[in-house]
Amino acid sequence: MKNNGMKSNMTSTSITRRSIFKGVGAAMFLAAMPWDVRKALARQQFDLIVIGGGTAGMPTAISAADRGAQVLIIEKASVLGGTMYLSEGQMAGANTVFQKRLGIDDSPDIFYDDIMRINKYTSDPALTRIWADNGGATINWLAEHGFTIRDGQPVLGRSHDFYRTARYLWGPENAMSIFKVMEPLLSQHVKEGNITVLLGAGAVDLIKDEMGAVRGVVTEDSDGKRSDFDGLNVVISSGGCAANPKMFESIHHVPLYGQNAYPFSQGAGLTLGLSAGGYLRGAEKYVSGMGSVVADSKIPSPRTVFLSLHPEIRPPWEVFVNACGERFMQEDHPSIGHRERALTLQPGHRFWVIFDQKILEQALSLVLFPNWSRDKLLEAFNTHPMFTRAPSLSELGVVTGIHPANLGRSISKYNSAIEKREPDQFSRVHRPLAVSSPPFYAIQSQGTTIVSFAGLAVNKDLQVITEENEPVSNLYAAGEVLGAGSTSGKAYTGGSTVTPALTFGRLLGQKIIRL
Ligand SMILES: Cc1cc2nc3c(=O)[nH]c(=O)nc-3n(C[C@H](O)[C@H](O)[C@H](O)COP(=O)(O)OP(=O)(O)OC[C@H]3O[C@@H](n4cnc5c(N)ncnc54)[C@H](O)[C@@H]3O)c2cc1C
Repeated sequence: MKNNGMKSNMTSTSITRRSIFKGVGAAMFLAAMPWDVRKALARQQFDLIVIGGGTAGMPTAISAADRGAQVLIIEKASVLGGTMYLSEGQMAGANTVFQKRLGIDDSPDIFYDDIMRINKYTSDPALTRIWADNGGATINWLAEHGFTIRDGQPVLGRSHDFYRTARYLWGPENAMSIFKVMEPLLSQHVKEGNITVLLGAGAVDLIKDEMGAVRGVVTEDSDGKRSDFDGLNVVISSGGCAANPKMFESIHHVPLYGQNAYPFSQGAGLTLGLSAGGYLRGAEKYVSGMGSVVADSKIPSPRTVFLSLHPEIRPPWEVFVNACGERFMQEDHPSIGHRERALTLQPGHRFWVIFDQKILEQALSLVLFPNWSRDKLLEAFNTHPMFTRAPSLSELGVVTGIHPANLGRSISKYNSAIEKREPDQFSRVHRPLAVSSPPFYAIQSQGTTIVSFAGLAVNKDLQVITEENEPVSNLYAAGEVLGAGSTSGKAYTGGSTVTPALTFGRLLGQKIIRL
């Protein structure tokens, strides 16, 4: 997973359904199902109903159909694919064919320890174990069906804390490379009559018997027409709630600052799971990703640009302060997870990158925004509300809303330690210049997320469970509906949502669900 991983053409505008589906010429099943066909289907009993045909739902359906099951996919959008239209699709698995080709030794145990080291043992041990044990097989399955990776991969990491073994990889077209491998497999099953796809109709309720066992799904289409579908098993794979500000905040107790998720990630599966007796967990794992500069102060706000804050690529020359005008982290701390967790403790999860004219001239140029020209950067100080320039630090504070007196004090303290050759208050190592030559500059950066961290509680068989730890009969879940925190922990651990979504979906279809 890559919090800063929006494709460049998605960075400057808010994400709309139109912008995602535009140009998806290859997408399948665009025709809505006629009402009479739907009515006929509603009389059929399916072995498996999959709610949501995205990253987790597609492999669930394919693998169950491979075993001979009759599967119905209910998909609210007009196309299959879900978040794969946006996602970088970065994955991690042990013992992949791509590692073998390069002679890289790895094992599920080493992988598991590495995930836990990165997220500081905050992900769910049982679910993380399933990912570590089976993620490699998922990647190998994709490779068997034509999935390729970028040159020079697998790598230790990118943008998130690095693994110790090179196992991180993604396709040339990001997550679309995964979609394009799965689409023909699914399509073949549709042709053979094993999978039926119902598009443009959302699951709105679960059908339960008097014992509380799930027996089917109620859908509603855009005209408000409802249909009931019978299924012996139901998998909820309808994604998270990171496009639903109200639900996101009520669950995580943190506003949804950024607007970066797939528009259909409205949290419908969370509501369905709760209605069947399930419960939510993992809100405390929320952590703000670092580096977004958003368009305005609205919540949520789309991202304008991404600050490249990677000390391993470019040690920082700037100083970071929070709204109280205080520094709050070692700006060049080698762990991005450490820096993100520090940001998450700050008011409003925001901070300002502060620098002066000398730093602008000597060090800034294009490196903070690799895709911007110097002119574009300077222009932003005249036009963009998150970019401020002022003749003094106190005026900078007044205009930005940073506590002006504290800002002055924090910068003086930083400068004085450099001058006196004393250690930095946060043990920062790279301190090439004091911040003392006017004018002064501030760029406001907002902590944001692209995923929801909380989700439905499941057991190791991916059955939705009650607070008493009892499985809800016939009801399973996979993908971000489990909460990204379940496998990522309180961190953005590389590949920790796409790989488990695919892997858990496959396992459900392959063997977990009794057909
Ligand atoms: C910009 C971006 C970049 C990312 N990069 C990475 C990365 O590099 N690596 C990584 O590990 N993770 C990444 N992630 C996260 C990861 O992509 C997602 O967590 C994962 O794809 C979610 O898979 P899913 O199957 O749960 O949901 P989805 O793939 O979104 O599928 C859910 C499907 O359910 C449908 N649906 C919703 N409601 C209903 C309903 N009521 N009835 C029927 N259908 C419904 C949706 O339309 C959708 O098709 C990224 C996310 C974003 C937004």
